[in-house]
Amino acid sequence: QAEALRQSQKMEAVGQLTGGIAHDFNNLLTAVTGGLALLGARIAKGDYDKLDRYIDMAQTGAHRAAALTQRLLAFSRRQTLAPTPTDADRLIAGMRAIIDRTLGPAIEVKVAATAGLWPVLVDAPQLESALLNLCINARDAMPEGGRLTIETGNRRLDARAAADQDLPEGEYVSLCVTDTGAGMTPAIIERVFDPFFTTKPIGQGTGLGLSMIYGFVRQSGGQVRVYSEVGQGTTMGLYLPRHLGDVARIDDAGRHVESQRA
Ligand code: ADP
Repeated sequence: QAEALRQSQKMEAVGQLTGGIAHDFNNLLTAVTGGLALLGARIAKGDYDKLDRYIDMAQTGAHRAAALTQRLLAFSRRQTLAPTPTDADRLIAGMRAIIDRTLGPAIEVKVAATAGLWPVLVDAPQLESALLNLCINARDAMPEGGRLTIETGNRRLDARAAADQDLPEGEYVSLCVTDTGAGMTPAIIERVFDPFFTTKPIGQGTGLGLSMIYGFVRQSGGQVRVYSEVGQGTTMGLYLPRHLGDVARIDDAGRHVESQRA
């Protein structure tokens, strides 16, 4: 019964996803067919003045539609991950320059590392891209500036806490990105992980950032949490399972290089 419920929820999610894409795709097709219809009408009248804007309209629509299906392909292909034991604090430190540059001078950046942070087993480039995505979202939520805090932690989740987080009981590393920005309404929070859900103007948001982060973190055995209040700000928390292998050496990118067992 639980399986049936899960299946029906999955189908509903797929339905919502495909419905949203079909809607976007349809809008783009309308631009194409509309442009061509106007072009045809002008030509039929023998009016050949400024036809290029109708051609432009059709071409832009077709290009956007092609880009949409392209992104969809990238999204649907279950990503093949290459997990390595990784020190999240080292990874964050290695990204400090690009984070500062991305956020600009109006946003103060605070990084709170954890002494003795547990390693996690993740695809490091994917975690980097997730972190950068979270920083970009935080920046977009603070157009007038503010403060961004990146904080890690070792978390032991007992049965109850784990159930709350929809995770197996165990040990996790948390990576939280907090901004002092606009925050989100409960209705928005509910949809943030939906593919193509965005509140940003066309051309600025794809609505794929958080859905891809969610997919990556779930595939890594972790969880993503959203804590947000309108006018106060947002915390996006990633939980990743602690890696319990031998860890001997750390390379420059913050990856633990495992020792050979004797
Ligand atoms: P995109 O950034 O392209 O819109 P995302 O999936 O990354 O796509 O985010 C979806 C939506 O979630 C955003 O459009 C925004 O409304 C909301 N959101 C994400 N992060 C934040 C944040 N830190 N503060 C406020 N809103 C946010």
